Amino acid sequence: NQGSNKYQLYTSAFRIMNSNISGDLSLEADLHQALEREELELYYQPKISVQTGKIHSAEALLRWNHPQLGIIAPNKIIPLAEATGLMDKIDKWVLRKVCHQIKIWHRAKFDFLKVAVNLSGHQFKQSDLFHQLTTLLFELNINPNFLELELTEQVLVESIKSNIQRLNSIKNLGVQISLDDFGTGYSSLGYLHQFPFDILKIDRCFISNINSNTKNATITQFMIEMAHKLNLKVVAEGVETQGELDFLIEHKCDEVQGYLFSYPLTVRDFEKLLNSNRIFIKSSDCNSDLSI
Ligand code: C2E
Ligand code: MG
Ligand code: MG
Ligand code: MG
Repeated sequence: NQGSNKYQLYTSAFRIMNSNISGDLSLEADLHQALEREELELYYQPKISVQTGKIHSAEALLRWNHPQLGIIAPNKIIPLAEATGLMDKIDKWVLRKVCHQIKIWHRAKFDFLKVAVNLSGHQFKQSDLFHQLTTLLFELNINPNFLELELTEQVLVESIKSNIQRLNSIKNLGVQISLDDFGTGYSSLGYLHQFPFDILKIDRCFISNINSNTKNATITQFMIEMAHKLNLKVVAEGVETQGELDFLIEHKCDEVQGYLFSYPLTVRDFEKLLNSNRIFIKSSDCNSDLSI
């Protein structure tokens, strides 16, 4: 009711007061069948390399094609899945699906493409995650460098020491690790360097008012510089305007992702975009600061 692109979190007490629960209960029942009915789908949103101006990788984003309600976003699916004990099944399905998609794209002519998958906290804690990954990589014979795992700070802060170890063993497989939504969680500067990240993703909340909010501009600039000093690549999330892009190019952000370039797309539409060989950022844009 508050418009699109919004979600609302409720405490359980508020949910009951709101008597919203009956709706959710039927959704919970539906989700049980969603996997078997193949109603879950992964959309892919491109990440553009600032250097080449072309698609360099993609992020897989979960959608549920509900037969009555239409497309349901992950912010609704994931809490439901957690509440109904379906998270494990869905997490496994997502990881397998992404690995299969990498295989398919690499067999086709898109062998440059890296694909990122979001790991839930639940998934990261599973003792068989490492086994799942090694099995999938081996079974499908995919180069681990083309699989990226996106994790948020929330997932990692609980037991830092063992999480560093877990992440190290995954990283040793050759899988890429990125820190998602950076800047929105706990201030992690103290232990950031202890985790074996390859990529830092700056959250959209810093990007979306970068041209008007000088504080956010300063923070973003600082985050990019800091990441580079720690040998991390930087991706900016939620880039929507040319002004935002200009700022990010000027401050040497490595990759950009957002509605300015593309919404998350179905496999079919993503392949169309790949086939178009589109150049999203012209090199004249990238060199514009050299004249200063
Ligand atoms: P995220 O990983 O930070 O993903 C970025 C979110 O921002 C996505 O929302 C994407 O559609 C949206 N977005 C991208 N560009 C723009 C933009 O320019 N403007 C705006 N306003 N939004 C943009 P989405 O797909 O609704 O996903 C939300 C979150 O749900 C994700 O945040 C991620 O944490 C989680 N998620 C998505 N798919 C999965 C999944 O397969 N497994 C798990 N565990 N979590 C997932
Ligand atoms: Mg993500
Ligand atoms: Mg994010
Ligand atoms: Mg997020």
